[in-house]
Amino acid sequence: MSKSVCQSWFSTQRIRDDLYLITEPHYYWYNRANLWLIKGQTQDLLVDTGLGVASLRQYIASLLDKPLLAIASHIHFDHSGGMHEFDRRAIHAAEAEALRQGDDYEALCTPEQGWVQDDHFEVLPHAGFTVEQYTLQATEPTHTLQEGDVLDLGDRGLEVLHLPGHSPGCIALYDPKSRELFSGDVIYDGELLDELHCSHIPTYLATYDRLQKLPVEAVYPGHYPILGRERYHQIIGEYLERRRQPGCPGEGGVGSRESGQ
Ligand SMILES: [Zn+2]
Ligand SMILES: [Zn+2]
Repeated sequence: MSKSVCQSWFSTQRIRDDLYLITEPHYYWYNRANLWLIKGQTQDLLVDTGLGVASLRQYIASLLDKPLLAIASHIHFDHSGGMHEFDRRAIHAAEAEALRQGDDYEALCTPEQGWVQDDHFEVLPHAGFTVEQYTLQATEPTHTLQEGDVLDLGDRGLEVLHLPGHSPGCIALYDPKSRELFSGDVIYDGELLDELHCSHIPTYLATYDRLQKLPVEAVYPGHYPILGRERYHQIIGEYLERRRQPGCPGEGGVGSRESGQ
């Protein structure tokens, strides 16, 4: 049976006047990313751009009245798929080349990796869509991000935190005044993926040691619902405990052997 073509691929939830959550509700829940539109005084930020199978740029046009910087929290296809549509595009330096090349392997979207499947699309995002043609569209980043960069929105500044482990170029954006964290796939309330080809558990543990010390009141994650402070610390504590158990890949021996990297 052939699938129908979707009329409206995206859905928006207004969190506050200056914050919108955009999702792709007809796509498989497990990989469905949260895309955050942060409205500032002098520029707007889009944290993650979804699969890139429908025009996010057109979809959010009515919400924009200032220059927009589109940011990929990391290279995975569910976050960086729509980057090519935007005029100003930023990603961490460690994954800039993968975006520039449209590197499907780093984006986890080659057919062999099996992350992009036909039955993950409840309807077709556009007529003629097939998963076989799905690819990360190559695009040159206009900005590369580094630890410590501050994204100035006029009325607030968001700090770039480099938090590798899930992938080498994972970033989160942190507002030290409101203590809000836009966390991408670094932390969310669901199965954490730390065994992908690009993941590194000792590095992930170091990232969580760092996050544990960060005063956070609210987390706007790359997947699943918004988190408060308590749940944030619970997730960190559980992960550190689980992965630091003797015999686990993050246990002392492995970490120290690889500490020269
Ligand atoms: Zn990811
Ligand atoms: Zn993701």
